[in-house]
Amino acid sequence: MCTCFIVPRDILTKLSQDPRLPPDIRKAAADTARVAQEIRDLRIQALRLTSIATMIQAPVTAIAAAPAITVFDCGHTQSLPGRPISGPQAGDDSAKRAFDETTQVAKFYKDVFGRNSIDNAGMTMMSSIHYGNRFNNAMWNGTQMLYGDGDNAIFVDFTLGNDVIGHELTHGVTQHSLQLEYTDDAGGLNESLSDCFGSMFRQWEKGQDAAAADWLIGSDIIGPSARDRNITCLRDMADPAGAHCLAPQPTQYSQITPGMDPHYSSGPPNLAFYTACKTLGGKSWEKIGQVWYRVMTTFGPSPRMKIPEFANRTRQVAGQMFGGTPDVGDAIEQGWSAVGLSRSEGAAIA
Ligand SMILES: [Zn+2]
Repeated sequence: MCTCFIVPRDILTKLSQDPRLPPDIRKAAADTARVAQEIRDLRIQALRLTSIATMIQAPVTAIAAAPAITVFDCGHTQSLPGRPISGPQAGDDSAKRAFDETTQVAKFYKDVFGRNSIDNAGMTMMSSIHYGNRFNNAMWNGTQMLYGDGDNAIFVDFTLGNDVIGHELTHGVTQHSLQLEYTDDAGGLNESLSDCFGSMFRQWEKGQDAAAADWLIGSDIIGPSARDRNITCLRDMADPAGAHCLAPQPTQYSQITPGMDPHYSSGPPNLAFYTACKTLGGKSWEKIGQVWYRVMTTFGPSPRMKIPEFANRTRQVAGQMFGGTPDVGDAIEQGWSAVGLSRSEGAAIA
């Protein structure tokens, strides 16, 4: 099910076998891939627990004004959560970034979408930094965030990416809303929602409109050896198949194959979101982002959701929210058409 890292596992495996890289860098990639596998099991348990809790409880109403933000230092070990850090001033630069950017993600969800933390009930947002030795990943493990320092060759410190932080915390939001599984279409949607909200968070922090945004994922965590190979990002929502991406993706829904890693099947819904935002213009989080958020949070759990079904819900919600502004629905239609899921194509698949 859900690995929910920022870097796909096959990229780490490939790097660990790349003869052009020095042995210590290859080892760091191999170690990260191995640990990732173990953490995946933890996530599956956490999703099951969340799912059971949703079934037996009435929805919890928001109580806390703002969630607590906590940061721990693993000291380059894999023991969680690590040593508590009292506040942004008490730690190093990674700690300060983890405190500041997590606080900003909480503010983004609160101010823009009216959401109170990951679970919409004020859940503490917990992070551990300096996880592992030259660990090449960041992840949401089902209950908290983990950030590696990177190997300083392919990747640098993962707290350097505000979109990375927004991406991982959004996996928590998805776990507490659509509860998407991490395979096939649902997995691709799970990854795509994290990229969409991670990128929107980055744009919101900079006050950028859709035309000014870079739409890159992970551009701030790419290290010098990867840059030497003209790699500038992990993924590009505007150009998912681009050669400048460390993990290029398909652009068409028809290219998604059964069992594909969700970091690749997220390409078409990423491109649909980008195209809709770019076509409409203005700030991504004000209209298109609002439609995506409502599709994510108002229909209840849909663990096996298909991408065409998600597309239809965006059409439905756009009509409900912005019926008087047909530009919004038209832009969304252009988005899905760009990936082979126009209204008629979607109907044919369904
Ligand atoms: Zn992810």
